[in-house]
Amino acid sequence: TDAESSATPVAARPPASRPAPATPAEPWTVRDASDLFQVDGWGQGFFAVNDKGRVVVRPDRTPGREVDLYEVVAGLEERGIQPPVLLAFNDLLATRINDIHQAFGNAIKENSYQGRYHAVYPIKANQQFHLVNQVMQSGQPFDVGLEAGSKPELLAVLGLTADGRDRLIICNGFKEERYIRHVMLATKLGRTIIPVIENTRELDLILEQAEAYGVRPRIGVRVNLGVRGAGRWRHSSGSKAKFGLTIPSVLQVVDKLRQRDMFDCLQLVHCHMGSQIHDIRVVTSGVTELARLYVELIRLGAGLKYIDIGGGLGIDYDGSQTNYEFSTNYTLSEYAGNVVYRIMATCDDAGVPHPHIVTEGGRAMVSHHSVLVFNVVGAHRLDDYKLPTSLENGVAKRTDVPRPLEDLLEAYRNVSQARMLECYHDASQAREEALTLFKFGHLTLEDRAMVDRLFWATCLKMHHILRDMEAVPEELEKLEYRLSDTYFVNLSIFQSLPDIWAIDQVFPILPIHRLDEEPTREGTLADLTCDSDGKIDHFVDRQAVRRTLRLHELRDGEPYYLAAFLVGAYQETLGDLHNLFGDTNVVHVKMDEQWGWSIEQVVEGDTVKEVLGYLQYDVNQLYQAIRHDCERSVRAGRMTIAESRTMLSAYEGGLSGYTYLE
Ligand code: PLP
Repeated sequence: TDAESSATPVAARPPASRPAPATPAEPWTVRDASDLFQVDGWGQGFFAVNDKGRVVVRPDRTPGREVDLYEVVAGLEERGIQPPVLLAFNDLLATRINDIHQAFGNAIKENSYQGRYHAVYPIKANQQFHLVNQVMQSGQPFDVGLEAGSKPELLAVLGLTADGRDRLIICNGFKEERYIRHVMLATKLGRTIIPVIENTRELDLILEQAEAYGVRPRIGVRVNLGVRGAGRWRHSSGSKAKFGLTIPSVLQVVDKLRQRDMFDCLQLVHCHMGSQIHDIRVVTSGVTELARLYVELIRLGAGLKYIDIGGGLGIDYDGSQTNYEFSTNYTLSEYAGNVVYRIMATCDDAGVPHPHIVTEGGRAMVSHHSVLVFNVVGAHRLDDYKLPTSLENGVAKRTDVPRPLEDLLEAYRNVSQARMLECYHDASQAREEALTLFKFGHLTLEDRAMVDRLFWATCLKMHHILRDMEAVPEELEKLEYRLSDTYFVNLSIFQSLPDIWAIDQVFPILPIHRLDEEPTREGTLADLTCDSDGKIDHFVDRQAVRRTLRLHELRDGEPYYLAAFLVGAYQETLGDLHNLFGDTNVVHVKMDEQWGWSIEQVVEGDTVKEVLGYLQYDVNQLYQAIRHDCERSVRAGRMTIAESRTMLSAYEGGLSGYTYLE
């Protein structure tokens, strides 16, 4: 049978078009807020809502030992550090590393497993220096290693492991001669470094370079498993996988190593079944297949010591613990238990000693530790289209009302549960006709405005009735979404949350304060870019992904902050400079026994000058061009000298400023 066809299908959680109706009798509590946004589900004890209605971070899950996010952001604003800001909690990262080790440690103990466990952090998940450095520090008690997927990553990894010779370094990705040379020389430095062969040509390069430098290398081999992964990255294994050797190619490697009397150098077998594996059955099946390969290679005489199951340990982004692609239907301890048990059982059956187990989970290690906080800069709401009686009567009294406007007024007045669909059809038809009339010059601008007003007022009237109806006609299901507010946020999705744009990823997003008040609005989020794709309209919900987010009314002169959680992996470094919005400020926050929390480090975001520099602008030349223009304007009498000075200092200030709204 075709192994690929046995892969479990991706379980799509259907979008929810309607929120669960509120229960007006019960007063709103912070517990309701926590339930609404599923904080306990995805928060995993690291995040909670406190009695003041604010989101708190508990880096080691201890209630009370917590950081109030609103307090942090307000404190940062006072210090002149503005949102959007990425808050990194290094204590939380340490807890995650500890959790992963504990899960494997427990599984090893429970199964009396004979090998050790090595976590290796693939820096591709987030290569920021402070983060990788922190992984090295927090991972010291467990000898956490590093994985490089490219030559630049390898050079960073080599520099970071100078004091950690025992840390395992796994080298994946495409390798040319220079890459391999770095590996051989690092072996001479005494590093525990394993280049993983991804194609047969790489073996020849390794053999050449090993001979040239007189090194007896450790070698790994990446196999392309028959089992296919699950979710977005399912093609990382299976017949069309980009990386990894087929079984016949593995045997060619075996032959070549044997011929050179170097079979003992083959120390590791590796696979990567894809990122964010949401179904435990894929893990079980892949690990069993890899373990079978391990024991077969041992039978042939390989000197294998390690079995490396790659990355893929998933994150429950929506807290639903389901087989949905942005959730996981397993826990960390179930994952560790399964991996250890499957390898053990396969080795025991073949009478082979248990290998050391290596994992390359990146997302699982670093996602939780950073939180992106951003402010709302305004909102657009269709409520503004509500129709005052005076306007309605005004239209009705006119003698020259164009036909579509008359039809719309009729539809507006007739809205009722029984005639819901009919009114919707009439209103839509009338609006379309009105637009045509406007295009051909038969409708004034004022009447065109009245048409829009009446149309949305009709939809709003329907919306109120729909809320109390059990079954909503299919055609009207999207009304909730169309009528929702748009909250404009000080953020670029392309820079800070690129996976929302690229793969429709769902991250938990919610207000970080005012959660003791019921959020009464429904909204989607629009970012600062002028791209219509720069929006967020998929949110975590109790039963399904929902298209709108419950939000609070904005209050004049009062900031309103939202945050996206679990954003520590693959976001910052995949982000781009769309519309020249640069890196955000990053602030490392740590628990402080005396003060509760303190700022450990501030990495300032890009200035306008910096992002222009990335794109080869000569900022001095730009400034000089403005200076000349000012001079010409002063001479022509269009500008005073004082105004020209203001212009120049504003331009200079702008160049040195933050790329986001300040
Ligand atoms: N190892 C390899 C070879 C990978 O390609 C990747 C990701 O693409 C990882 C590890 C990390 O995967 P994850 O972050 O899902 O654990």
